[in-house]
Amino acid sequence: MSLNSNFHIHSTHSCDSARATILSIIKEMKELGFEEFGLTDHLHTAYNLPDIVSARRDFLASRPPKNFHFGVEVSVMDRRECERVAAGDYRAWGDEPVYGFRDMTDYTGHYMVDLSAETIRELGIEFVVGGIHWPLTTSHDRGELIRHYCDLMLFLVRHPLVDVLAHPWDSIELAVGDWYRFRDEAHIDHTVFRHIPDELNQLLANELLKYNKPAEVNLEVLCGQSSENRDYYLTLFRDWKERGVRFTMGYDLHDAHFSPQKIAQLEQWLTDYGFTEDDFVIPIRK
Ligand SMILES: [Zn+2]
Ligand SMILES: [Zn+2]
Repeated sequence: MSLNSNFHIHSTHSCDSARATILSIIKEMKELGFEEFGLTDHLHTAYNLPDIVSARRDFLASRPPKNFHFGVEVSVMDRRECERVAAGDYRAWGDEPVYGFRDMTDYTGHYMVDLSAETIRELGIEFVVGGIHWPLTTSHDRGELIRHYCDLMLFLVRHPLVDVLAHPWDSIELAVGDWYRFRDEAHIDHTVFRHIPDELNQLLANELLKYNKPAEVNLEVLCGQSSENRDYYLTLFRDWKERGVRFTMGYDLHDAHFSPQKIAQLEQWLTDYGFTEDDFVIPIRK
């Protein structure tokens, strides 16, 4: 199969290490033969909203071709973080809340995506991909963390403003390994995937179907995993596909340029697991 759409691309407007300019994204997607593609800079809380406003300005200034879409990537946050940002309560915390406002003990258990229908309208946001980027619980229990990640994914799938479930299960190996505290390779649990109960993946498939939302095949996640864990993901996606779930392809570009080799590699893996072009959809809001 050949990939012809890509709905997960970060530009220099993202708060993290992303390095691609909007003009180079347009040029390279065209050269690589992609028919539909979309920008998705990070919006963790409203603190990052100026990034999305500047991305929108550059998007419009690029004279975007019709097949280039303006989107955003949201994170699941704890409601208290969003309330602190809304209150301008930065100094009390002692840091700039680029990635939110958590000290890893102060979770409320109420989840939130810090985006409104009004902002979507005002900024011309055509699609929203939603992902988990960190746990929102103090638990260190593997089983509890797995169920917690499932809950966060269900929250995203059911959220009326989220159109795509970005990178399912990604970062669970960091959460279970306690990477968020230690931030080193020794605290990543690469074995966690074999402990995810089948029933949770069935539940996720059911909800994706019920809410008619695609799950994302994330190129950087698949390229970054061991062959064993990549097999876990591809087998899971094939299972979901057989149940009727549809997908988007998200490169999740943070580098300055796309890698044609990585795209060809993903095409080969998807072909090997029985995927075709028809399994991929365009997630643009009506
Ligand atoms: Zn993400
Ligand atoms: Zn991303």
